[in-house]
Amino acid sequence: MPLEIRQIPCLSDNYGYLIRDEATGAVAAIDTPDVNAINDVLADAGWRLTHILNTHHHWDHAGGNLALKEKWQCEIIGPGAEADRIPGLDRAVGDGDIVKFGQSAAKVFDTPGHTSGHIIYYFAEDEAAFVGDTIFAMGCGRLFEGTPAQMWASLSKIAVLPPQTRLYCAHEYTQANASFALTVDPHNDDLKSRVREIDQLRASGTPTVPTTVAAELATNPFLRAEDEALKAAIGMSGAGAVDVFAETRRRKDNF
Ligand code: ZN
Ligand code: FE
Repeated sequence: MPLEIRQIPCLSDNYGYLIRDEATGAVAAIDTPDVNAINDVLADAGWRLTHILNTHHHWDHAGGNLALKEKWQCEIIGPGAEADRIPGLDRAVGDGDIVKFGQSAAKVFDTPGHTSGHIIYYFAEDEAAFVGDTIFAMGCGRLFEGTPAQMWASLSKIAVLPPQTRLYCAHEYTQANASFALTVDPHNDDLKSRVREIDQLRASGTPTVPTTVAAELATNPFLRAEDEALKAAIGMSGAGAVDVFAETRRRKDNF
């Protein structure tokens, strides 16, 4: 049975998500960026919140946990590696765990780098992954609590998912990411045409998320640390992937 997915723009540039297992009516919030925005969508849809699935501890992802739990008595599932920083956590999960949600199931991947315990949720049957702040359209999360090697390994887990997998990122950072991507991957024709599409979508206020694994493999400089043209463009021909990734991330931090 399929999942129904509602995307909720909130705060300045976050996306919250509500997913409903159609077989059972179970409803999960992926992260809790904005309690009122989430409750409004639940009320409009006539849905009852049964679960919260957290990706990491940042306030714009777990800050609404306690208020939503108080209202709905929902079960909170989140990363065991940062359990002490997830408000109201009921069940800690980590790499390889299966989270049963109604008749749907998500596989958990550890994706440390942005935070030390960040996780993502992959619903294989639905070809959907909720990736928090690990990967964005043409970007990746800042390395607040991890090393370039950790983040490269985390991104590599996403890169090998089936190419049609939709990636539900937690922020609309796409246009800024695109501007940066052009500076390190200036000869990439897929990137150039994607930037034109993105600019058109944003001009009409349309979300550019979800993206797909295929689109990111072709245009996301943080997944392209093994691409010879990108390496040459930043003066790192012959360098290893982790070093190229680290330099790309360093440049983005200063962009
Ligand atoms: Zn974050
Ligand atoms: Fe965030």
